[in-house]
Amino acid sequence: MSDSFPLQKLQNITTPFYYYDMELLERTLKTVSEEAQKHGFVVHYAIKSNANPRVLEMIRSFGLGVDCVSGFEVQRALDAGFKASGIVFAGVGKADWEIELGLDNDIACFNVESVPELEIINDLAAQRGKTANVAIRINPNVNAKTHHYITTGLKENKFGINQWDLEKVTDALNKMKNIKLEGIHFHIGSQITDLSSFQDLCVRVNEIHEWFVSQHLAPRVINVGGGLGIDYEDPDQNPIPDFEGYFKVFKEGLNLRGDQEVHFELGRSITGQAGSLITKVLYIKEGVKTKFAIVDGGMTELIRPALYQAYHKIENLSSAAPEEKYDVVGPICESSDSFGKAVSLPRTSRGDLVAVRSAGAYGEVMASQYNLRNIPASAYSDQL
Ligand SMILES: *Cc1c(COP(=O)(O)O)cnc(C)c1O
Repeated sequence: MSDSFPLQKLQNITTPFYYYDMELLERTLKTVSEEAQKHGFVVHYAIKSNANPRVLEMIRSFGLGVDCVSGFEVQRALDAGFKASGIVFAGVGKADWEIELGLDNDIACFNVESVPELEIINDLAAQRGKTANVAIRINPNVNAKTHHYITTGLKENKFGINQWDLEKVTDALNKMKNIKLEGIHFHIGSQITDLSSFQDLCVRVNEIHEWFVSQHLAPRVINVGGGLGIDYEDPDQNPIPDFEGYFKVFKEGLNLRGDQEVHFELGRSITGQAGSLITKVLYIKEGVKTKFAIVDGGMTELIRPALYQAYHKIENLSSAAPEEKYDVVGPICESSDSFGKAVSLPRTSRGDLVAVRSAGAYGEVMASQYNLRNIPASAYSDQL
């Protein structure tokens, strides 16, 4: 069991809640910043993975930019004190008000996913007498070797522009007066732990980049997106992802020209291991073959297991008895409301405190009020 949980202090907090290890978040940010700086790489934090105010405050203190996928996220980033010049805005369906918000605040770049979107951005920029910086999101048709729900870079995918449509894009760009092509953008998926997928991405990026250069368009920014995975199986062994190896793939794989910048949009790899969902055991229920540990947190607090069949390590923080197997389930009226099947836990009883680990990314931010539950509160290791 991890010894990084201050059990007694956590026992005084109303469950379920998110617990953030701020010291680990800080070490992770230090590592990612240092490793990126070695190569002159620029990192934008994918705010969709976690928009908790204290988490954002720490991320901002390390000077990262922000990658947003909605107007609300752009607003949250601005409210959290991030500079507009460090904000990029992606997303396949941007409403006019969201584009206007970006233009009015002079954000760094719109990552554009279709020609119609380009036209609207051009019109709205023209109305304001502004020029919008854009990066074209291109679908590189690379298999991210991850869960099919979170792979985004294959050709039959709603995201990005396919390579055979690029000429339409450059034709459109040449006609638009209020658009400046700033870069090319890629994002192949999430929770990618096999770095060879990123090597494949580099090969495709180089080809596409060459093509842009042949069209006399030299993108200043090569944005390779995010997607670096974390170790859900063993968060204590691997609390910080291999940023060094990850950046090295791009350093070695990308053919850059002159003063081009390489941008990254990392979410899960920054916040994932720093958060856990802390929940209390309500009852142990004996099934026919299975023992259920029914806890007071569920898919309303952490939906990843129900939504993506995602694995999270589960620990009983308050028992050291011999291990038994439990299905750990929540109280929500859905059969998919389960955190794990046949989980080995020390003998568990009512009142035990359970940690669902590696829940810092796509956890709190996906909480819902289904069954009219409350959005969970948060506790921070440096404020207990
Ligand atoms: C979700 C997303 C990211 C971040 O993905 P992670 O797997 O959390 O690193 C980056 N860029 C875009 C465009 C995204 O949609």
